[in-house]
Amino acid sequence: MVDPPPSIIIVGAGLGGLALAALLEHINVSYVILERLTEVKANGAALFIPPAAANLLRQLGIYDQVKQKAKPCNSIDLFTEKRKHLFVLDFAHLATMSGAEGFIIPRSSLYEILLELIPTEKILRGKRVLSFVQGEGGVQVKCADGSVHESDILVGADGTYSAVRQNLYERLKKEGKLSVADQKPATFNCVCLTAQTYPLDPEAFPELSEPGCHYNNVVAQNKPYSWMTFTGKDNIVCWSVIQYLNKETSELNDSFRSTDWGSGLAEAMCREVQHFPIPGGNGKLTLADLIVNTPRDQIAKVTLEEKVFESWYGGRTVLLGNAVHKFHPAGGEGALCSLYDAVSLANWINVLETNTIAGLDIIFKEYVDERLPSAREALIHARNMASMYSRTFKATMARFISRNMPDFLWKTKITKSAADRSQAAFLPLIQDSGTVPPLFQPSLHKTLAILEAQAAAKKAMEDTAGTTSMTSTASTTSASSGFSGVSGSTTATTAPPVSVPQTRVYAERQQHNQHQQYQGPTLSSSTTSSIHSLPPAPFAPTLSSSSTSSLSAHVHTTHHHQHH
Ligand SMILES: Cc1cc2nc3c(=O)[nH]c(=O)nc-3n(C[C@H](O)[C@H](O)[C@H](O)COP(=O)(O)OP(=O)(O)OC[C@H]3O[C@@H](n4cnc5c(N)ncnc54)[C@H](O)[C@@H]3O)c2cc1C
Repeated sequence: MVDPPPSIIIVGAGLGGLALAALLEHINVSYVILERLTEVKANGAALFIPPAAANLLRQLGIYDQVKQKAKPCNSIDLFTEKRKHLFVLDFAHLATMSGAEGFIIPRSSLYEILLELIPTEKILRGKRVLSFVQGEGGVQVKCADGSVHESDILVGADGTYSAVRQNLYERLKKEGKLSVADQKPATFNCVCLTAQTYPLDPEAFPELSEPGCHYNNVVAQNKPYSWMTFTGKDNIVCWSVIQYLNKETSELNDSFRSTDWGSGLAEAMCREVQHFPIPGGNGKLTLADLIVNTPRDQIAKVTLEEKVFESWYGGRTVLLGNAVHKFHPAGGEGALCSLYDAVSLANWINVLETNTIAGLDIIFKEYVDERLPSAREALIHARNMASMYSRTFKATMARFISRNMPDFLWKTKITKSAADRSQAAFLPLIQDSGTVPPLFQPSLHKTLAILEAQAAAKKAMEDTAGTTSMTSTASTTSASSGFSGVSGSTTATTAPPVSVPQTRVYAERQQHNQHQQYQGPTLSSSTTSSIHSLPPAPFAPTLSSSSTSSLSAHVHTTHHHQHH
């Protein structure tokens, strides 16, 4: 890690921003979150936490809390709007494959659990970021209240309508570095009404008494809607209604596309959909039974944009979460993707070697190389899932195929989801019991190798210093001062070579490889070569603090200047 450690401003205390902050708490950096809202407003309905996320939640020490607030979820039941059961989309195999259960948790509960990991003073509320300027000397962020904040790194975790992205893109466009695709706005074909009820009476909603989540999805025959309900802990029901738009309704809905989680237009949509039947209870329930039991100001209507942007960083600024990728919620991957962005970015920040734009460029590129392909896959997966619940011929075919898919084919289809188990390299690694080994995660493997090489180099230096001091006290000073000017790459040659299979993760992967049909990169040759092909200078372990950047002289921690 560069000395002094970098300072970071995270814009947005959403799931992605909070996850990054929770991870940064464990590494030697200073950070602050700028959030536009003055109070916590965690709207939304249910989030699916896939089994693959268990390792990360365990690393953060919040697995048990999540489990306490969530219900296990292993399937989706599809119904017609006459409440006739169509079939079950069963993903119970995921639990065995990943070594943990999947959960449905209210979005607000996950938000609150993450929030508890962050010291209160590190979240500055009522700070709507308007713009920023950046250069070799650092980043300067301006907020609507007139305050100015400075740091070495700016992370835009400010959601779908990201001001950080818009500012960055203006600059990239002027420099001729913005792709045509990134200049186009995100498209959307659906709007969604989403909320969670007050605690309900289990007599009227008997499914609430069961330990597992009932995730029911109703596919309409004659209307452009699908709607879903999820039973949660504490007798609450999360619910969402998706409207599939045509050209005309699309234009009507375009007008409110300026804020996320807006509740203003929710009322009208509630009136439109309240008579829609829902399964369960006495067989006569409708959405109205949920709507009347839901706090009105927490029912949100959102447009479901779908896009993965291509440019994720520029200069000292990097984007994560919904600021760079937005999926249809049917795939249940938006939150996980934001959390994994945070993990990858934190892994790389932890081994940042030079606090210059060139140094940041290298780690940001590594981050994007890992996360962009995953985001693209998630977009496709979400589209496929979304199309399954609509009324088109393609959707009918998709439902038919899912319903009749042989078990072995279904298992193959979900293998990738089970294997995508990201971990942070700087926290104790979790040894899971999944039957499908985790996917190769570049930010974990590469940064672990760097950390181990750094530790080995440090030990070698201590050993050398020890030996020297035993032979001559007078020469100690010259030996250590000789090291202090050694460049990273030179120092690396004094350390034992990075022995990849010695790392804990590689040992774990090797064990798995012995008995699995693992499709990812094999350990020995490909993994080693990918590590050896890392750019040598910036990542080579150093012993000294000689990498202090020009910026560090100017900005050491985040500064907050209030302009009156
Ligand atoms: C109906 C619905 C259901 C979903 N279901 C699932 C699911 O089952 N599984 C799943 O994985 N994902 C799901 N998602 C997606 C998931 O909620 C998002 O992907 C996730 O919340 C993204 O987190 P984020 O931190 O990137 O953005 P957000 O959560 O949007 O957070 C952005 C934050 O930035 C703040 N902000 C914005 N602009 C500024 C500014 N200028 N200055 C300062 N602060 C600012 C906002 O106030 C907010 O706090 C669902 C989404 C919807 C709409």
